[in-house]
Amino acid sequence: MIRIAIDGPSSAGKSTVAKQIARDLSIIYVDTGAMYRAIGLYVLRQNLDTKDTAQVCGCLPNIRIATSYDPQAGQRIFLNDEDVSEQIRSPQASMAASDVSAIPQVRAFLLSLQQDMAKKQSLIMDGRDIGTRVLPQATLKVFLTASAEERARRRFLELQQKGLPDTYEEVLAELKKRDDQDMHRAVDPLRPAADARMLDSTSLTFEEVVDTLVKWAKEASA
Ligand code: C5P
Repeated sequence: MIRIAIDGPSSAGKSTVAKQIARDLSIIYVDTGAMYRAIGLYVLRQNLDTKDTAQVCGCLPNIRIATSYDPQAGQRIFLNDEDVSEQIRSPQASMAASDVSAIPQVRAFLLSLQQDMAKKQSLIMDGRDIGTRVLPQATLKVFLTASAEERARRRFLELQQKGLPDTYEEVLAELKKRDDQDMHRAVDPLRPAADARMLDSTSLTFEEVVDTLVKWAKEASA
């Protein structure tokens, strides 16, 4: 069995790269950010405060998160049986995910689900605490970064393609705010595991990143 952990700040290209590696290695891909987003979306829909621990924790007993994976379509995420894979991608859901993810009970709620998935099968999982918390015994741990400006540029193009009105400046500001929150929270902040391999993708092509990670994965599992 092979388990690959990819962590890094938002829009570093983790999910696109992980999806391709999953196809190359015929393993499943698990996007843990989608799980935090689904919880954030639920709290937003209840018109509750995503930063309020008591309000968010009060929602948890009513939330069921499930995922499915298909090599072509990627991961789908279900919130109480509703497919919310598209709804979780809005900038509001991104901030809501970052807010709720700072709450220890929310992290504990998702941790067992994520660890159970890794017990049964080979996989590549991306997030913020995969190498440090979820899969400390991962075969390969990667910390994927890129400059904030490059990440904002990629995210801005993605949002534009979806017809969302955010400007580049708004995207950059949101991204910096979210990374700051993710790096400075008390529980499982975003940081590289001591044994993670670092990869800065600022001036690399998608293919170069994928080739590097596939090479590292083969070395690590040899
Ligand atoms: O990866 P993505 O940008 O979809 O994640 C959304 C948010 O969920 C992140 O900004 C982070 O706050 C949170 N997250 C986390 N731990 C993970 C994955 C995501 O705290 N393993």
